[in-house]
Amino acid sequence: MAEPLFERLCLVGIGLIGSSIARVARARGDIARTVVATTRRAETLARVRELDIVDLVEPDHTRAVQGADCVILCIPVGAYAPVMREIAPHLARGCILSDVGSTKGSVVRDLAPLLSQDVTLVPAHPMAGTEFSGPDAGFAELFQNRYCILTPLPGTDPAKVEKTAELWRRCGSMIETLDPATHDKVVAIVSHLPHLIAFTICGTADDLAQETREAVLKFAASGFRDFTRIAASDVEMWRDVFLNNRDALLEMLARFSEDAHALGRAVRWGEATFIEDRIRRGRKIRQGLIERKQA
Ligand code: NAP
Repeated sequence: MAEPLFERLCLVGIGLIGSSIARVARARGDIARTVVATTRRAETLARVRELDIVDLVEPDHTRAVQGADCVILCIPVGAYAPVMREIAPHLARGCILSDVGSTKGSVVRDLAPLLSQDVTLVPAHPMAGTEFSGPDAGFAELFQNRYCILTPLPGTDPAKVEKTAELWRRCGSMIETLDPATHDKVVAIVSHLPHLIAFTICGTADDLAQETREAVLKFAASGFRDFTRIAASDVEMWRDVFLNNRDALLEMLARFSEDAHALGRAVRWGEATFIEDRIRRGRKIRQGLIERKQA
């Protein structure tokens, strides 16, 4: 077995993503010699203890990060600034501070100003997830064959970026590097807008008159069901994602609304060719995903 990449890996937040990292580290043994977890609620820590997926659980964030050569924030992005204010003075010299947040401009905005010179920030976003949350939801295979996007700022120590990339490779991921703004635009269309649409369509269905709503639920298998899976996602996490990727999300929503209106117009005026073209484009995109093994 390869030498562990880190001596002490500290996971701040241990829900779906944090507990999946912990499970990979436990299964492989070559990610960190010691894995410590800290989180907000005592119940979550107690559950993590029962699950026995980390070496140490520590309720106090500031004690948990002490002596860690890698700290990964696995909490909703809206909690970064207050948590960082708490832990920043306790981060060890030479430590890599990373995260798994779904927005990246906000991460740099909230973490970089509080960073001391001896700590290196290497933001990361594993493009893997489910609609479930909490430490019971995690599993070691979550990151297998999925992309992990790193968004280091220019001038970041390449050795620290490489070490972070190696952690994610050992989790089974493929690595891509993007600047934070490009990352935020891309995820706005591939992830945040689809969630916004799913939450909205479920709300629209819920607003329907009682008997129609019941029929919708009864016959949901015809497409609506796929939206409900996405719409079952965690409230705090998605509130924070929307609020912290506001500009990119609003831009994609505006483009989407224009395109949806154009398709609606074609339906109204019976423009069959336009409609066929849109459906063909959808099929082509799906085919592309299948060919890239990302379907
Ligand atoms: P999760 O299962 O809901 O777990 C969240 C963890 O953060 C829990 O340990 C929770 O603590 C802690 N936490 C929540 N609010 C906090 C606060 N205000 N202060 C301190 N700790 C707090 O969430 P997750 O799905 O793992 O998501 C974690 C991060 O990964 C988010 O930034 C998200 O954007 C990103 N991400 C998620 C997905 C996905 O599909 N879920 C995919 C990629 C990236 P308690 O349980 O103790 O309350």
